[in-house]
Formats: sequence, structure tokens, C-alpha cells
Amino acid sequence: MNDLSTFEIPTEILDEIQHNIQHIIENFDIPDANKLDVIKKINFMYTQTKQMSVTDPLTGLFNRRHFESEFEREFKRAKRYNNNLSVAIIDIDFFKKINDTYGHLCGDYILKEAAYIINENFRQTDYMFRYGGEEFVIILTETPFENAHIPLDRLRKKVENHKFIYNNEQINLTISIGFSSDKDFETTFDMFDSADKALYKAKNEGRNKVRGNNDD
Ligand code: GH3
Ligand code: MG
Ligand code: MG
Repeated sequence: MNDLSTFEIPTEILDEIQHNIQHIIENFDIPDANKLDVIKKINFMYTQTKQMSVTDPLTGLFNRRHFESEFEREFKRAKRYNNNLSVAIIDIDFFKKINDTYGHLCGDYILKEAAYIINENFRQTDYMFRYGGEEFVIILTETPFENAHIPLDRLRKKVENHKFIYNNEQINLTISIGFSSDKDFETTFDMFDSADKALYKAKNEGRNKVRGNNDD
């Protein structure tokens, strides 16, 4: 059987559900005394479903699909108002080795703990996502290149100094970060690709590093 916990409901279906809810409320013979409770219950279920469709179940961060739509929106907004926008990709160093040495459950513990550290490191106006296995993405709104370095480097240090303890054993962890913040990108794809290239540089230069697209 497919794992439904990671199944993402497309936006069109969510819109259709909302449309149907309105139809039920308007056209079914619900006694007036119960109407409010029915609306509340349906609303609750709808909100819960919507929440699940944008959330990564392991870490509680937003998922990749939500990243795609939010990035597109923030990219357009930054272009229209000439705002600064940065996007960062975080990749855990040698994560495969952690799984191989301590097991997958330990790997999952590390992912949850890392997501927690990431979540508390950034401003409320920034967005944090779990992009894939051991990769996270941050959208830093109103943040030019010089300013993006600061929270990203703080995060790198926090992870390096954090005590990850699993089954009484301390595990050392580092992350590499690539980011991009330029106003001349034509598409979100180009901007993301440039952050990915910077991440590649961070890995190549020894890992546990932050590299931006405008770094030498
Ligand atoms: P690098 O420093 O080059 O990034 O090395 P790496 O080992 O982190 O990179 P690689 O891409 O080779 O391996 C990523 C590993 O992440 C593969 C897999 O074992 C692990 N992984 C991916 N998703 C999950 C997950 O949901 N849970 C756990 N426990 N492990 C995962
Ligand atoms: Mg990776
Ligand atoms: Mg990795």
C-alpha cells in the first residue's frame, strides 16, 4: 500500500473541496440549530487537510511542493517592488554515513533536531522548508546578499556546536549552505540553480561552509 502520510493533495483538489463545502452548506437541509456546528466541523477538517498538504510529516516544516509555489510568489513580488530576495539550500554533510553507522532512526532524529534548529534561527518573515531527504531550503525575504550571510553563517555554527545525542552517543554534525541573491535572475529556476552551484562550491571547498553566488 502507498504511504499516504506523505501524499500531497494538489491545490485544484483543495479548491474543489472548498467549493463542495459551500454547496453542502447552501443546499442541504441542515437544521438551523446544527448549522454552526456543521460549518465549524467542516472548516476544521478542511484546515487540517490543507495544513497537511503543505507540511513535511517528519520535521513539521513546509514541504517541497509548498516551496515551489511560495518561491514563485516571493520571486514575483521581489521583482515587482524591486525588493531584495535570497534563497538558500542547506545540505547535511555526510548524512549517508550517519544512517550507515547509527541506523535510519538515528538519521530521522537528526533531521528533526536539525529542522528545529533551522526553524528557530530565522526571522518570522523568512520561510523554512524540507526540500528533500537531508536538504532544506530557506527563502529570506527583503534580504540582500551581505545580510544573507549573517543568519546562514550563524546557523552553520549553531549546528556545528549543537550536541546531537542518540542512544547516549554524541554525534557530530555539520552542514553546507549555498545561497543566491541577485536581482537579475529571469526565473526561479535560474536563481535556485545558482544557489545549488554555490552549495556545490561549499561542498567542494571542504564542507561546513556557507557560499553565495557572488562570493569569489
Ligand atoms: P554530502 O556531504 O556530499 O552531502 O554527503 P551525503 O552523504 O549527505 O549525501 P548523499 O546525497 O550521498 O546522501 C544523502 C543520504 O540521505 C542518503 C540517505 O541515506 C539519507 N536520507 C535521505 N532521506 C532520508 C530520510 O528521510 N531519513 C533518513 N534517515 N535518511 C535519509
Ligand atoms: Mg543531498
Ligand atoms: Mg548531504
